[in-house]
Amino acid sequence: MNGDLRSPPLQFIDFHKKVKMISKLEKYVDLAKTLNMIDAVLITPQDICFDIRALLKCRWGCDDLCQNSIRCHVRDTTYQERMEMVKEYNHILLAHSHDAHELSKAILEIERIAFLDGYYFAFGIRLCNLCEDCSVKKGLACPTPLKVRPCDQSFGIDVYKTVRNLGLPCEVLQSKDDIQNRYGFVLLD
Ligand code: SF4
Repeated sequence: MNGDLRSPPLQFIDFHKKVKMISKLEKYVDLAKTLNMIDAVLITPQDICFDIRALLKCRWGCDDLCQNSIRCHVRDTTYQERMEMVKEYNHILLAHSHDAHELSKAILEIERIAFLDGYYFAFGIRLCNLCEDCSVKKGLACPTPLKVRPCDQSFGIDVYKTVRNLGLPCEVLQSKDDIQNRYGFVLLD
Protein backbone atom coordinates (compact mmCIF):
# COMPACT_ATOMS: atom_id res chain seq x y z
CA MET A 1 0.00 0.00 0.00
CA ASN A 2 1.21 3.48 -0.82
CA GLY A 3 2.11 5.18 2.51
CA ASP A 4 0.88 8.59 1.23
CA LEU A 5 -2.68 7.25 0.94
CA ARG A 6 -2.89 6.09 4.56
CA SER A 7 -4.97 8.12 7.03
CA PRO A 8 -2.87 10.24 9.35
CA PRO A 9 -2.47 8.82 12.88
CA LEU A 10 -5.11 9.88 15.43
CA GLN A 11 -2.57 11.77 17.59
CA PHE A 12 -1.69 13.84 14.51
CA ILE A 13 -5.36 14.70 13.89
CA ASP A 14 -5.88 15.57 17.61
CA PHE A 15 -2.81 17.78 17.60
CA HIS A 16 -4.02 19.66 14.53
CA LYS A 17 -7.51 20.05 15.99
CA LYS A 18 -5.98 21.54 19.14
CA VAL A 19 -3.78 23.96 17.16
CA LYS A 20 -6.81 25.04 15.10
CA MET A 21 -8.87 25.56 18.25
CA ILE A 22 -6.16 27.62 19.95
CA SER A 23 -5.78 29.86 16.90
CA LYS A 24 -9.57 30.44 16.91
CA LEU A 25 -9.46 31.39 20.59
CA GLU A 26 -6.56 33.80 20.05
CA LYS A 27 -9.30 36.22 19.03
CA TYR A 28 -10.10 36.67 22.74
CA VAL A 29 -6.48 37.45 23.57
CA ASP A 30 -6.60 40.25 20.99
CA LEU A 31 -9.99 41.37 22.27
CA ALA A 32 -8.66 41.56 25.84
CA LYS A 33 -5.83 43.79 24.62
CA THR A 34 -8.24 46.12 22.83
CA LEU A 35 -10.11 46.30 26.14
CA ASN A 36 -6.93 47.71 27.74
CA MET A 37 -5.72 44.53 29.43
CA ILE A 38 -1.95 44.47 29.96
CA ASP A 39 -1.70 40.75 29.29
CA ALA A 40 -4.05 38.01 28.27
CA VAL A 41 -3.18 34.35 27.88
CA LEU A 42 -5.02 31.19 27.03
CA ILE A 43 -4.65 28.57 29.73
CA THR A 44 -6.27 25.28 30.70
CA PRO A 45 -7.77 24.13 34.02
CA GLN A 46 -4.49 22.29 34.66
CA ASP A 47 -2.79 25.70 34.89
CA ILE A 48 -5.11 26.79 37.71
CA CYS A 49 -3.85 26.11 41.23
CA PHE A 50 -6.74 25.30 43.54
CA ASP A 51 -6.12 25.58 47.27
CA ILE A 52 -8.86 25.40 49.86
CA ARG A 53 -6.93 27.98 51.91
CA ALA A 54 -8.15 30.61 49.42
CA LEU A 55 -11.61 29.93 50.88
CA LEU A 56 -10.22 30.29 54.38
CA LYS A 57 -9.04 33.81 53.52
CA CYS A 58 -12.35 34.50 51.79
CA ARG A 59 -14.43 33.49 54.82
CA TRP A 60 -12.32 35.26 57.42
CA GLY A 61 -10.91 38.53 56.17
CA CYS A 62 -13.20 39.85 53.45
CA ASP A 63 -15.51 42.84 54.11
CA ASP A 64 -17.95 41.70 51.46
CA LEU A 65 -18.63 38.39 53.15
CA CYS A 66 -19.30 40.13 56.45
CA GLN A 67 -22.07 42.03 54.64
CA ASN A 68 -23.32 38.79 53.08
CA SER A 69 -22.82 40.58 49.79
CA ILE A 70 -23.96 39.56 46.31
CA ARG A 71 -20.30 40.03 45.33
CA CYS A 72 -19.32 36.84 47.15
CA HIS A 73 -22.43 34.70 47.01
CA VAL A 74 -21.72 31.13 46.02
CA ARG A 75 -25.37 30.41 45.17
CA ASP A 76 -25.68 27.14 47.06
CA THR A 77 -22.74 25.52 45.32
CA THR A 78 -20.04 23.63 47.20
CA TYR A 79 -16.29 24.17 46.80
CA GLN A 80 -16.08 20.75 45.18
CA GLU A 81 -18.79 21.64 42.66
CA ARG A 82 -17.18 24.97 41.81
CA MET A 83 -13.82 23.33 41.25
CA GLU A 84 -15.40 20.67 39.05
CA MET A 85 -17.21 23.34 37.02
CA VAL A 86 -13.88 24.96 36.14
CA LYS A 87 -12.31 21.60 35.33
CA GLU A 88 -15.03 20.86 32.75
CA TYR A 89 -13.63 23.55 30.44
CA ASN A 90 -10.84 23.05 27.94
CA HIS A 91 -9.71 26.63 27.46
CA ILE A 92 -9.70 29.62 29.77
CA LEU A 93 -8.68 33.20 29.09
CA LEU A 94 -6.63 34.78 31.88
CA ALA A 95 -6.61 38.59 31.76
CA HIS A 96 -4.26 40.91 33.65
CA SER A 97 -4.85 44.56 34.51
CA HIS A 98 -3.76 47.14 37.06
CA ASP A 99 -7.33 48.41 37.24
CA ALA A 100 -10.04 46.36 38.99
CA HIS A 101 -12.90 48.25 37.29
CA GLU A 102 -11.45 47.92 33.78
CA LEU A 103 -10.81 44.24 34.45
CA SER A 104 -14.39 43.49 35.51
CA LYS A 105 -15.73 45.30 32.43
CA ALA A 106 -13.36 43.42 30.11
CA ILE A 107 -14.14 40.01 31.61
CA LEU A 108 -17.85 40.53 31.12
CA GLU A 109 -17.42 41.81 27.57
CA ILE A 110 -15.20 38.88 26.58
CA GLU A 111 -17.75 36.50 28.09
CA ARG A 112 -20.51 38.23 26.09
CA ILE A 113 -18.65 38.07 22.78
CA ALA A 114 -17.59 34.45 23.34
CA PHE A 115 -21.22 33.53 24.07
CA LEU A 116 -22.37 35.24 20.86
CA ASP A 117 -19.63 33.36 18.99
CA GLY A 118 -21.28 30.12 20.06
CA TYR A 119 -19.33 29.28 23.23
CA TYR A 120 -22.58 29.03 25.16
CA PHE A 121 -20.91 28.02 28.41
CA ALA A 122 -18.59 31.07 28.39
CA PHE A 123 -18.41 32.43 31.92
CA GLY A 124 -16.38 35.04 33.75
CA ILE A 125 -14.85 34.59 37.19
CA ARG A 126 -13.81 37.83 38.81
CA LEU A 127 -14.76 39.74 41.95
CA CYS A 128 -17.29 42.31 40.74
CA ASN A 129 -15.94 45.84 40.32
CA LEU A 130 -18.17 46.74 37.39
CA CYS A 131 -19.26 50.06 38.85
CA GLU A 132 -16.74 52.73 39.77
CA ASP A 133 -18.84 53.32 42.87
CA CYS A 134 -20.36 50.04 44.06
CA SER A 135 -23.86 50.45 45.55
CA VAL A 136 -23.53 47.14 47.40
CA LYS A 137 -20.52 48.43 49.33
CA LYS A 138 -22.74 51.27 50.53
CA GLY A 139 -25.42 48.84 51.70
CA LEU A 140 -27.69 49.44 48.70
CA ALA A 141 -29.05 46.98 46.16
CA CYS A 142 -26.99 46.10 43.11
CA PRO A 143 -28.50 47.79 40.01
CA THR A 144 -27.31 45.01 37.69
CA PRO A 145 -27.33 41.72 39.64
CA LEU A 146 -27.32 39.62 36.47
CA LYS A 147 -23.92 41.04 35.60
CA VAL A 148 -22.29 40.05 38.87
CA ARG A 149 -19.84 37.18 38.47
CA PRO A 150 -18.35 35.10 41.28
CA CYS A 151 -15.13 35.90 43.04
CA ASP A 152 -12.14 33.68 42.21
CA GLN A 153 -11.40 33.20 45.91
CA SER A 154 -14.73 31.48 46.38
CA PHE A 155 -13.56 28.92 43.81
CA GLY A 156 -10.47 28.24 45.89
CA ILE A 157 -8.22 29.63 43.17
CA ASP A 158 -4.73 30.51 44.40
CA VAL A 159 -4.22 33.44 42.03
CA TYR A 160 -0.71 34.19 43.29
CA LYS A 161 0.57 30.72 42.51
CA THR A 162 -1.42 30.36 39.29
CA VAL A 163 -0.12 33.53 37.68
CA ARG A 164 3.44 33.26 39.02
CA ASN A 165 3.68 29.80 37.45
CA LEU A 166 2.77 31.49 34.17
CA GLY A 167 5.49 34.12 34.58
CA LEU A 168 3.07 36.92 35.48
CA PRO A 169 3.54 39.32 38.41
CA CYS A 170 1.56 39.13 41.64
CA GLU A 171 2.98 40.32 44.94
CA VAL A 172 1.48 41.09 48.32
CA LEU A 173 0.96 44.86 48.34
CA GLN A 174 2.86 46.76 50.99
CA SER A 175 0.98 50.03 50.67
CA LYS A 176 -2.14 51.47 49.04
CA ASP A 177 0.08 53.26 46.50
CA ASP A 178 1.64 50.04 45.21
CA ILE A 179 0.68 49.02 41.69
CA GLN A 180 -2.01 46.39 41.83
CA ASN A 181 -1.89 43.33 39.62
CA ARG A 182 -5.43 42.12 39.14
CA TYR A 183 -6.48 38.96 37.30
CA GLY A 184 -9.74 37.64 35.94
CA PHE A 185 -10.78 34.48 34.14
CA VAL A 186 -13.16 33.75 31.28
CA LEU A 187 -14.02 30.07 31.03
CA LEU A 188 -14.44 29.66 27.28
CA ASP A 189 -15.28 26.17 26.06
S1 SF4 B 1 -23.21 47.61 42.32
FE1 SF4 B 1 -21.87 47.39 40.52
S2 SF4 B 1 -19.83 46.86 41.36
FE2 SF4 B 1 -21.36 46.54 43.00
S3 SF4 B 1 -21.90 44.36 42.85
FE3 SF4 B 1 -23.41 45.47 41.60
S4 SF4 B 1 -22.54 45.50 39.50
FE4 SF4 B 1 -20.88 44.93 40.92
